[in-house]
Amino acid sequence: MPVVQGYPGNELNRAFVRIEGSDRLPGNDADYIETTIISTAMAGEKSTGPDKLLHSIFGFDSFRPGQKEIIDHLLDKSHVLAVMPTGSGKSLCYQVPPLVLNERTIVVSPLMALMDDQVAALQDIGVPADRIHSNRTHEDNGEAWNQFKSRQTFLLYMSPEMLMSQKMLNALQSVETGMFVIDEAHCISKWGANFRPDYEALSKLNGLFPQSVIAAFTATADAATQQDIIQKLTNNNCIKFVQGFDRPNLHLTVKAKLNWKTQLLEFLEDKKNSSGIVYCLSRKQTEEAAEFLRAEGYNAIAYHAGLDSKTRSEHQDRFMTEPHAVMTATIAFGMGIDKPDIRFVAHTNLPGSMEAYYQEIGRAGRDGEPAETLLIYGLDDLFQRRRFIEKDGEDQHHKLREHKRLDSLLGYCEASSCRRIALLHYFNEEIGPCDNCDNCISPPALIDGTELAQMTLSAIYRTGQSFGAAHIIDVLRGSRSEKIMERNHDQIKTFGICAGYSKPYLQGFIRQLIAAGHATLNIKKFGGLEISKSGFMLLKGGIEFQFKQPLEPAPKSKSSQSLKNSIPAHIYSGEDAELLARLKQKRLSLAQDQGVPAFVIFPDTVLYQMVERKPANRDEFLNLSGVGPAKLENYGDSFLAVINN
Ligand code: ADP
Ligand code: ZN
Repeated sequence: MPVVQGYPGNELNRAFVRIEGSDRLPGNDADYIETTIISTAMAGEKSTGPDKLLHSIFGFDSFRPGQKEIIDHLLDKSHVLAVMPTGSGKSLCYQVPPLVLNERTIVVSPLMALMDDQVAALQDIGVPADRIHSNRTHEDNGEAWNQFKSRQTFLLYMSPEMLMSQKMLNALQSVETGMFVIDEAHCISKWGANFRPDYEALSKLNGLFPQSVIAAFTATADAATQQDIIQKLTNNNCIKFVQGFDRPNLHLTVKAKLNWKTQLLEFLEDKKNSSGIVYCLSRKQTEEAAEFLRAEGYNAIAYHAGLDSKTRSEHQDRFMTEPHAVMTATIAFGMGIDKPDIRFVAHTNLPGSMEAYYQEIGRAGRDGEPAETLLIYGLDDLFQRRRFIEKDGEDQHHKLREHKRLDSLLGYCEASSCRRIALLHYFNEEIGPCDNCDNCISPPALIDGTELAQMTLSAIYRTGQSFGAAHIIDVLRGSRSEKIMERNHDQIKTFGICAGYSKPYLQGFIRQLIAAGHATLNIKKFGGLEISKSGFMLLKGGIEFQFKQPLEPAPKSKSSQSLKNSIPAHIYSGEDAELLARLKQKRLSLAQDQGVPAFVIFPDTVLYQMVERKPANRDEFLNLSGVGPAKLENYGDSFLAVINN
């Protein structure tokens, strides 16, 4: 529902006339897009509205959920905040209106590499777009501005600091700008996950350019952040659009950490031919992971804030352009990464919060094809995270909130039913079981753990509620370690009472006790376990405790799972697999010639269609989703030759 209606306007009709007529300032040679639009119009087809453009320029058959509504509101000149999951197609929402209206649009984006890719992709389908940023020469930037000013480009990308510089603001006073698009809009809010001081200045835009539409987009904003964005960017005068968070193509798995390297290798075993991200906690671990994966034959690249900016951007370029690259990275990597064919995201440690986790896994599978995610975590991670929170400033309320957020993530990790239900529940969305997470595919059996819990809690109690899980497990298993003998912990009632249980089993069990809220990790006592109120009730027999078998079940046969989740590339065999490989080779050589990432030429989804539908001629090629006239013109013959060879 609209929050508040933006200002009304009758620009629309005028703009439609404009695009069909010749009310354009003369460009040198008419840009492809204009030729296309005009020739369609001349062919006697009345509308050059969004639907036509979607087909004739972008080559798509239909809008994805939400896109049309947002575009309509923007065409109506309302300010819009759209919160849509990664991969849902936000870019199209702001790329279509300037083309329909023939109006200048400025797109604010935080990352230069991202701007370059988006502009390359637009230019490749004949949409006149450019960018201004500090990595380009003064001349290039000047030329981009002149083209924008003289209406030869409609879409101009720039960074927030570039836009809000006094020089740029002055220059903008002399040209009419239809719309300002703020991508990654959550960066403006201190409530959000990635506050950026550069973004704060954008709150002046609305006052400076009251005639222009503000369109804000983000994939991560809870209710408070949304309100903050609306207030700052549009002075509460905005239509809010929130699209569901569900990403059904992402397979979700969480595993207890035994040995992260072995577990990672197991996960990557069938992924040698795909790209993905492996998130690590520290710079050191990032380097270690990259080295170890390279030794195993993966094209692994490290990325973290300790690398100088040149190396970082080189590594990012390699990830974007090289086939089958694996980025091992700290969270410094990823915001705004616009690679649609990331097939997996693995976490080797617990992420910072549910929001961070959702955002990080959300980078996989933006093309809508199946993608896999794996989170490996252990109690050490939890302790580590709690320490980070404690070390972060003095605001006690803030710390409490952060601890609560971490609790939610822990609950998710230890969930024994559908993970997607748990994940979406956190974002206030209700769905049914997903059939695409570890718990749905092989539901864990719940067993009664009341007695084991009582023994564990009793050991915690009798050792004074100040020892960590490792020591409690030693007590339960009857270890005669120095630490135990020194403190006479071999004398307590529960000493050795769980001698038959393995360490990992008891670790898993204690994690579940913590996730259920019966025991807590006290950071001030260096991770000492304490018993909560409900823990005391459990100890006294007032409540029961169900838990899931902590050890991993025997690996299931691949067949049940693979069919649904495997990547299409793996389904192909024989001639089709060979064709796909040749198509990819063609795409790579075209991309290298042009110096753009491969997916700018065609995303994987389009290659899959070529394999499946084997278009025989240009007409059939144009029918593929994602192929418009420009793509047909530029690449049709090259790919048709590969297919029909
Ligand atoms: P977001 O910015 O929301 O993360 P993108 O704008 O990058 O997502 O879009 C993700 C992918 O979906 C891109 O490859 C894009 O070309 C594709 N896409 C967008 N809209 C459509 C559509 N209507 N039909 C088919 N594919 C689409
Ligand atoms: Zn599920």
